[in-house]
Amino acid sequence: MTTTAPDDGGPAFRCACGAAAVRKQGNQRLCARHYRFGQMRSRAQRDGKFVPAREQLEALLHDACPDCGVVMNLLSYEGERERTATLQHYRDGTLAIVCLSCNARHASMPGDTYRDMPKDHKWCPHCETAKPFADYAADNGRSGQMKLKSWCKRCSSAAHTEWQRKNREQYNAKQREGRARRAAG
Ligand SMILES: [Zn+2]
Ligand SMILES: [Zn+2]
Ligand SMILES: [Zn+2]
Repeated sequence: MTTTAPDDGGPAFRCACGAAAVRKQGNQRLCARHYRFGQMRSRAQRDGKFVPAREQLEALLHDACPDCGVVMNLLSYEGERERTATLQHYRDGTLAIVCLSCNARHASMPGDTYRDMPKDHKWCPHCETAKPFADYAADNGRSGQMKLKSWCKRCSSAAHTEWQRKNREQYNAKQREGRARRAAG
């Protein structure tokens, strides 16, 4: 999805809903919300999924992602791409507008297990288990916002141990080097 900076607003550039327009489509001016709805609808159509009416999307859209609670942006250039509002088709036929990050995570889980998962749990794609947040290490992401690692602590440390085993020699050499340096220092 390529987006460019919005038109300079002004009364001549208004969406039918009255909000300032950010895009021109044919002879229609669209606000961010209605432009995004159009994108969601054409994406659903392209994917062969149910295409909801604008009014339905209106009712589904909230400022915060219903799954993780982050404030979503409508257009990817308005903020972090991962927080862009996206249309989620659940496998039972219901719909929600969730952030791109939750949408992607849902796609990696079997069936609709994601929906039944308690809010303080997160799916680990490595051991394929829903685990409480406490089982994940946190990390300061690029945004400076605390984020949980995608793999649970056990999988992360198992992967680390495996990496250590493979790199045992290199690892030991580094340890020896460090000890020697400290002894000399
Ligand atoms: Zn509008
Ligand atoms: Zn979310
Ligand atoms: Zn795991």
